[in-house]
Amino acid sequence: MKYIGAHVSASGGVENAPINAYNIGATAFAFFTRNQRQWVAKPLTPENINTFKENCLKFGYKPHQVLPHDSYLINLGHPEKEALQKSRTAFLDEMQRCALLGLDRLNFHPGSHLNKVGEARCLQIIADSINWALGKTNGVTAVIENTAGQGSNLGFSFYQIKRIIDQVEDKNRVGVCIDTCHAYSAGYNIKDKAGFETVFKEFDEVIGFQYLKGMHLNDSKKEYGSKVDRHESLGKGTLGLDLFSFIMNDPRFDGIPLILETPNNEIWADEIQLLRNMVR
Ligand SMILES: [Zn+2]
Ligand SMILES: [Zn+2]
Repeated sequence: MKYIGAHVSASGGVENAPINAYNIGATAFAFFTRNQRQWVAKPLTPENINTFKENCLKFGYKPHQVLPHDSYLINLGHPEKEALQKSRTAFLDEMQRCALLGLDRLNFHPGSHLNKVGEARCLQIIADSINWALGKTNGVTAVIENTAGQGSNLGFSFYQIKRIIDQVEDKNRVGVCIDTCHAYSAGYNIKDKAGFETVFKEFDEVIGFQYLKGMHLNDSKKEYGSKVDRHESLGKGTLGLDLFSFIMNDPRFDGIPLILETPNNEIWADEIQLLRNMVR
């Protein structure tokens, strides 16, 4: 079963996210559980929580069809102690919000070394941050997203992600989300069938499909290997449409949220239908 959706708005309250998802014909969705550009967020009220759960039930969204995304401000690999703690505290709050909403996973970008510590050290800090947050929560999996490798962001290679997972104590509560735009920008050639098979064979060998807890389906505005993160609508970028048809017909991508983060929200309903029609 393929669960297809988009990163929808939660403005006016998290309870609106499942409604917005339903309105575009989505069977999965992503959203921010708090304002993604502010450090401090209002706590969720019992009303937010209950209405969110009611709406998920009403429109048929189970936890494994929902992939919340954390705030862009958070850097779990921050090389400086105070800033790191600020990020960890905010991340913990996000994990707790997911738990309150009855959700089972939280998607995040691993972190950046800011050219102040080496790669291995930064990956270790990220793993320590995950261990710290998992130790204070229950039931929510920390889902590491691969990055395009822009700036000093880590997590652009499967080996870096593996290195983080290796240092996470509770392997049952760590997962991975692969963003197609980020992978292509980072130098994984998933555009044609041969490349797609090679890359996901490597993914399985290095990380393992058992860790795959979601996908972000985006075309890319930038060239292969550009290391620049610019999403494009499906079929309108440098990736093209074939890749998405490979994914839609591959059972390794069943049962997880497949999320559009494409720039034009007015065509999300069409993009979801396009993906659905690709299933042979
Ligand atoms: Zn993404
Ligand atoms: Zn991106």
